[in-house]
Amino acid sequence: MTVTDQADNCFSKKEILSILSTVKDPEIPVISIQDLGILQNVDVSGQTVRVDIIPTYSGCPAMHTIKTDIKQALGQHGVVDMEVRLLDQPIWTTDMISPKGRAAMQAYGIAPPLSINEKKISCPQCDSTHTTCISEFGSTACKALYRCESCLEPFDYFKCHA
Ligand SMILES: [Zn+2]
Repeated sequence: MTVTDQADNCFSKKEILSILSTVKDPEIPVISIQDLGILQNVDVSGQTVRVDIIPTYSGCPAMHTIKTDIKQALGQHGVVDMEVRLLDQPIWTTDMISPKGRAAMQAYGIAPPLSINEKKISCPQCDSTHTTCISEFGSTACKALYRCESCLEPFDYFKCHA
């Protein structure tokens, strides 16, 4: 019995990544931490799992929640021995968001951060680039509140790294 238990408690990196794909950003529940680009490393050594993440910007209050969510998700799948580390490096940039993540944000009604080639924030509802920043702080500190001048809808813009 103990032998079987031990075998069951060994995880592959692939399994851990699949568990982690269920951990979403608490502010944007449609995007996983992997698609957001904050998941940096996963180390599996026997029964020990180590996960390294980086903050979207230093002092983001969501990081504490994400850490807890990771531990909870792993725990639910039987991982007992785990460590979640919050790294200072590399510095997260919006370019780390995967194309899948950007698409999910847009579909959710949040304007994805601009990539280097874009200059104007476009409305997630109608794609108009005729938009105005109403407030530097949207529903959370990571977002700014914008309004579309074409369809007059307000929307959140996920801010670039400060
Ligand atoms: Zn619009």
